[in-house]
Amino acid sequence: MTIRLLPTSTAGSLPKPSWLAEPEKLWSPWKSEGDELVEAKQDALRVSLQEQIRAGIDIVSDGEQTRQHFVTTFIENLDGVDFEQRKTVKIRNRYEASVPTVVGAVRRTKPVFVEDATFLRAQTHQPIKWALPGPMTMIDTLYDNHYKSREKLAWEFAKILNQEAKELEAAGVDIIQFDEPAFNVFFDDVNDWGIATLERAIEGLKCETAVHICYGYGIKANNDWKKTLGSEWRQYEQAFPKLQQSKIDIVSLECQNSKVPMDLIELIRGKKVMVGAIDVSTNTIEAPEDVAYTLRKALQFVDADKLYPSTNCGMTPLSRQVARGKLEALSAGAQMVRDELTAK
Ligand SMILES: [Zn+2]
Repeated sequence: MTIRLLPTSTAGSLPKPSWLAEPEKLWSPWKSEGDELVEAKQDALRVSLQEQIRAGIDIVSDGEQTRQHFVTTFIENLDGVDFEQRKTVKIRNRYEASVPTVVGAVRRTKPVFVEDATFLRAQTHQPIKWALPGPMTMIDTLYDNHYKSREKLAWEFAKILNQEAKELEAAGVDIIQFDEPAFNVFFDDVNDWGIATLERAIEGLKCETAVHICYGYGIKANNDWKKTLGSEWRQYEQAFPKLQQSKIDIVSLECQNSKVPMDLIELIRGKKVMVGAIDVSTNTIEAPEDVAYTLRKALQFVDADKLYPSTNCGMTPLSRQVARGKLEALSAGAQMVRDELTAK
């Protein structure tokens, strides 16, 4: 994968068009089913891709048009989880949600996103990135009545993710990203087995791999939680030393309007860093200068050839117009810094 300096990408989802699901709403249900849904998703993917390309985004994605929820859409396609049997659990110790139950051995009996990724691959020659949930975040979104061990279930999911990731790689995906917001919450588990299970998920892959660790979508439960974190968010400090030692190529972080001390990035020196330079919890569109400011700060701790300007998280809850403006700001801000670097 040859790529220009400071390649831009989005960390997560993009808004869904109204024909696919109710817009500006997180996890809204599909509006159609069967063949009609397949076509609606493909059309949405085409539009989302076109908007990324027009905005000048370098590493493109499906905008997560193929997912209703970043974790459960994957799990729905596996054996061993009963979506009728629901239990209320606390997600990431933060908000309550009704979740499905693990009732037997979890298994992947068919590819989940491979056809979608093949479709995306056929639409563009630009590098493509595909997101999967990480093992630790997956187990946190379920009630386990079978393994009765978070760690055991995580290892099972890691094996399944590895099967899917290998087929995504074969379909031409350049970067496979694992979403692990749970890494910012369960620090002991992250170090005991969280990073180990993530490495199991990427075992044998030749494409690049990324882990996305954020403070969540801009929803109330997350925004309220952020208010309790104090003036400095040092959560990344817990997982970074082990991540630095891991085989993961890229670490995706929330940096715009966050209280993460930028110097924490020093702890993952050597890794590529997707620096979130777009805040997804506000409708205010960043000025390119705001984006450039964050990228310049990050450049103190990450080499220019390893800096990937990105968004903090997904933009599904935003309007299409705001998301489009934010993508353009990301591009323009990255270009400002690119110009500064190449003028030297
Ligand atoms: Zn995120």
